[in-house]
Amino acid sequence: MAAWTLLTTSEGVATLQFDSADEKINKLTPKNMTELAACIAEIRNNADIRVLLIKSGKPNMFIAGADIAEIRNITSAAQGEQKARDGQHVFASLEALQIPTIAVIDGPALGGGLELALACRYRLVSDNTKTQLGLPEVSLGILPGFGGTQRLPRLVGVSASLDLILTGKMIDGRKAEMIGLADACYSSAFLNEKADLIAKDVAAGHPFVNRKLQGKCLETLSEKTPMGRFILFKLAKKQLMAKTKGRYPAPLLALDVVRDTYRQTAHDGYLVEAEAFGQLVITPEAKTLIQLFYTREDLKKYPGPAPKKAEKPIQSTAVVGAGLMGGGISWLLAHTGYTVRMKDISWEAILKGYESVKNIQKKLISRQKVTTHEADMATIRISGILDYSGFAKTDLVIEAIVENMALKKSVFSELETVVSPTALLATNTSSLSITEMASDLKHPERFAGFHFFSPVHQMPLVEVIRGEKTSDHTVARLVELAIKLKKTPIVVKDGPGFLVNRILIPYVNEAVRLLAEGVPLPKIDALMEDFGMPLGPLSLADEVGLDIGYKVAKILEEGFGDRMQVSGLFEYLHQYPAMLGKKTRKGFYLYEDKKKRPNPDLAGTIQSYQAESGLKPATILDEDIVARMVLLMVNEAARCLEEGTVEKPAYLDMAMLMGTGFPVYRGGVCRYADAIGIDVVVETLHRYSDIYGARFEPARLLLEMNREYTPFYDYT
Ligand code: NAD
Repeated sequence: MAAWTLLTTSEGVATLQFDSADEKINKLTPKNMTELAACIAEIRNNADIRVLLIKSGKPNMFIAGADIAEIRNITSAAQGEQKARDGQHVFASLEALQIPTIAVIDGPALGGGLELALACRYRLVSDNTKTQLGLPEVSLGILPGFGGTQRLPRLVGVSASLDLILTGKMIDGRKAEMIGLADACYSSAFLNEKADLIAKDVAAGHPFVNRKLQGKCLETLSEKTPMGRFILFKLAKKQLMAKTKGRYPAPLLALDVVRDTYRQTAHDGYLVEAEAFGQLVITPEAKTLIQLFYTREDLKKYPGPAPKKAEKPIQSTAVVGAGLMGGGISWLLAHTGYTVRMKDISWEAILKGYESVKNIQKKLISRQKVTTHEADMATIRISGILDYSGFAKTDLVIEAIVENMALKKSVFSELETVVSPTALLATNTSSLSITEMASDLKHPERFAGFHFFSPVHQMPLVEVIRGEKTSDHTVARLVELAIKLKKTPIVVKDGPGFLVNRILIPYVNEAVRLLAEGVPLPKIDALMEDFGMPLGPLSLADEVGLDIGYKVAKILEEGFGDRMQVSGLFEYLHQYPAMLGKKTRKGFYLYEDKKKRPNPDLAGTIQSYQAESGLKPATILDEDIVARMVLLMVNEAARCLEEGTVEKPAYLDMAMLMGTGFPVYRGGVCRYADAIGIDVVVETLHRYSDIYGARFEPARLLLEMNREYTPFYDYT
């Protein structure tokens, strides 16, 4: 079936409607582009058409972009360049039509979708929350290749265009009108009628002029002069380097393309753009980012049997424990539209819960992520209580009380007596066994772990932890809920540390061992930040709290024995209750006046520890410092896969990117191991296990992979 339909009226108005058959979204495939080219030729040859509207046949959708499968399959720079040239030709023929063309945008207009709209003379957009305009190509490691780097800067000026092209940021209809990307923004309910009226008016010979901009490009004063532009591009590069440390080639090359072509002829500009697209599309960074895109899409599908359609949806929720996590979870549920009973054991604690909610809202209001009205409406949905009144009506309870098995078990026993038989029960525990927590429950099948990361409003990951008796149905409903909460759920098997903490703790533990062996603290953190981690391991330990880190490390030690033995220095430091990290302003670092510096007392402590344990300071090469920390993560990741803690390497990698900030351009722990070679990983682990002991013994899965020459991912 054809995706494009051309309808004409007697008044000279033609509507070209796009509806990708059998697809939920509109995307530009080569077939759709060929059809579009044919429609444009037909329009060009029809003298009766005096104005063209381009609309989508799908509600809440314009065009979501080019087909990413096509981009993924490109194997050479020349092929990539040619694909870009093909797309550019189609849009150039649209732009070259002698009649006015109007894109009518009520939903996402992204990537190739926005580039098509840019080739039209006018763009009318809606104020629909689904309307998002942007060029997200850099997030896939490429740049806009269908004319976006040429038309956008000429339309909205260099500054505003770089803000979109270099970040992949999406903006709504109102903002698009404000920066001159859209000619007008209307209420979604009237957009089509407005567009039809404007089209008739334009067909009658009255050009449409934007009410606010009067057709002017929003070029800033400085952009108008060569010197001004020189400074602007230099500044943009400096900011980009500070943000990306040069690890992502796409935004850097996109910046060069805009800089080098801004005042050139469009023809030359398109050639440069297509060549750059070809260069980028085959880079390892693009391959990694495209694969991550697919993993994210995959994770949006429910595992196991999806909840039955007829089932009562989750509406009313409860959170037990209004502390740091309980407050954050209550905010998230209320913000998404659920009513929340927030229970704690004292009014002071409830008040703290409300304060956490208010603090999150304040931040989001200041960043214009929510309006004051939306924040107020969310707060109204939360009711603080000290008993279980109203719990009989809740569809879901999330427990977030202190990390204590006996207390949690007694809370769930109480909960079973007050909630309805269909309510789901979940715990936010970061380390305790889900199976054990459910052991006294009459209905353990409706119980699971639902592990948010801190801070809840920022961290995108939720581990959905399946206990031995958790039903598929419970897992599927929690996955569905996590997606509604706009989090990425990863389903994991119960076990010490679940997934992320199990892989992260050995890394932090090794950092403390290196410190004990005499490696300077700033060096350890700096090397891992150079590797791409957002924070070095010792800074991270301070952020989380040394007491909390120690507690989880101990649970891992109990669960896995010698391999996870807590480092001697960590045990030693545990004696100092005032040294808990950032919360006591003293940990591995000292926190004074918003600045941090290495804790000067630490040197003496390390010396005493070395003297007591007989450990001699050693000289360790930088590459070994990094490899010791990172390869322990790789080794544990392999064990998690071996034991079925998580379904596949791609999910594990996504969990590490989202839960720990593992560098995106490296694609995750497993993808990193593939990049350096499984043989190198195994050989290095063997070498370290000879020197440092059993914790480095390679996992069985790694040995097998090495024997069979198979990486974690299938690259065919
Ligand atoms: P917190 O100490 O800030 O809050 C715990 C709250 O539970 C307190 O307000 C306390 O009064 C309340 N409480 C204690 N017993 C209760 C009971 N019987 N009924 C109702 N409320 C009770 O703790 P937190 O940091 O919010 O952690 C809560 C849970 O989340 C823990 O299981 C923790 O392991 C987990 N978690 C914490 C983090 C983190 O970074 N803090 C991250 C992920 C998961």
